Amino acid sequence: MAKPADTRTAGRKPAAKATRSAAETEKIRAALAARRDELRAEYDQTLSEITELQRDRLTDSAGDDQADTGTKTLEREQEISLANSILERITQVERALERLDEGGYGWCERCGNPIPVERLAAFPSATLCVTCKQLEERR
Ligand SMILES: [Zn+2]
Repeated sequence: MAKPADTRTAGRKPAAKATRSAAETEKIRAALAARRDELRAEYDQTLSEITELQRDRLTDSAGDDQADTGTKTLEREQEISLANSILERITQVERALERLDEGGYGWCERCGNPIPVERLAAFPSATLCVTCKQLEERR
């Protein structure tokens, strides 16, 4: 059975509430990529600090008393957990880039409006626009 109504709209995209231009998508991609590079540099920096702490611990631990050793171990643990949280953020940004390619990134989960580029650059894992986020927090 033919459905005349369908032929009229066939091939046409459903009317979206809001659209994002290709230029805007590019802007988000650039912002996310910059963020990822920043985080990677931060991660490398942290890793070299860990290596340094490790080396210090091995080379001049002979004269250390227990308190020194404890401090160094704590410092190293803090650096490692920092490195892990940076790595986590890198993963978030990379997932965001993948979702951006699929067209499913940067839209508010609540109202469906596009989340501003600046907000996405600052919080790549943001899933709500500022207005909805504020409503959420007020509850
Ligand atoms: Zn919203």
